Amino acid sequence: MLPPRRTRRIQVGPLELGGGAPIAVQSMAATRTRDLEATLHQVRLLEDAGADLIRIAVDSSQDVEALTHIADATSTPLVVDLQESYRLAERIAPHVQKIRYNPGHLHHHEKDKPTAEKVAWLADVARGENCALRIGVNAGSIAPEYEARHPEDSIEAIVSCARDHCHMLDAAGFSNYVVSIKDSDPRLVIEANTRFAESRPDVPLHLGVTEAGMPPDGIIKTRIAFEQLLARGLGDTLRVSLTVPFEEKGQEITVGRELLADIEAGRFRSVPVGFFDGLNIIACPSCSRVENERFIELAQEVKRATAHAAEHQLTIAVMGCRVNGPGETDDADLGLWCGPRTVNLKRGKESVGSFTYDAVLDVLLRELDQLIQSRA
Ligand code: SF4
Repeated sequence: MLPPRRTRRIQVGPLELGGGAPIAVQSMAATRTRDLEATLHQVRLLEDAGADLIRIAVDSSQDVEALTHIADATSTPLVVDLQESYRLAERIAPHVQKIRYNPGHLHHHEKDKPTAEKVAWLADVARGENCALRIGVNAGSIAPEYEARHPEDSIEAIVSCARDHCHMLDAAGFSNYVVSIKDSDPRLVIEANTRFAESRPDVPLHLGVTEAGMPPDGIIKTRIAFEQLLARGLGDTLRVSLTVPFEEKGQEITVGRELLADIEAGRFRSVPVGFFDGLNIIACPSCSRVENERFIELAQEVKRATAHAAEHQLTIAVMGCRVNGPGETDDADLGLWCGPRTVNLKRGKESVGSFTYDAVLDVLLRELDQLIQSRA
């Protein structure tokens, strides 16, 4: 039995989130949205797995066009991830039940306009079409002002960003929203969500560990966060982000339900001391921005080929696109981000070069060995 959740109830089309409503399990289509056939196939696959809510990324007019057909073809509530084009919300809202925006991305658009004004506009659009909103804060893409305000406390930076955006929506008279605060480190996810909920116990929470990577590690990292948060009565909807082939995306739903059932039944798993020591491979779950599906294979190869370095305290990040990849790999010791034909390799923030998918693994292994030697 989980403790009662104190959040307010919100409406996502026919789906209720928050308060005593059942915890909803959701996932995201990883295909390019404009590829209608592939995305419809992905949506059906997630529906068959039992998704309560399906997220679709929209970044262009072509994506909006595809979205209208997808919305007609499914009865599962849809949430759209507004990527770099928040103004598309107006065209999207009539077709979906929820819109997610990333405060970090919103900050970079129409910079001369106050953020509160952009948020109020989104609230108006959502209200007009009975949509819900999600404030989706991601530790890897936070607006610079928050980092500047809290240089010593990265958790406070993301939590205060989430709080500020709640205030902006409150001020706009809009309450049909949820908040997510994600990172690839489950310990940060636990601390940030707990801190946020202390100040805003009324706001429903969407839980997730982003870039958790491949199973089983990605599932273990996610379980660590979910066990701690759900057992505290925090979490109204959840997503398990896994780097798996597109055809296996249904796993995000089945694993989400299994984790939820275990936690509800009190079947907790502990992790040994030192679990977080050693090589950490983070990988994004992929989305419509992936331009070469070999990204998934590459992430799996990186994991296999670096097994010899398991004892070393290093992070390797493998990201699927050139939009978020460059920024999201900055904090890793070695980072790879994938383009259509080549993969870019980084050592910290510094570029090592761009290599074909066939060649990049050898270069990565050379870099890894050098790094291990230099640290020794
Ligand atoms: S890194 Fe790029 S491809 Fe991966 S989930 Fe983020 S936006 Fe999508």
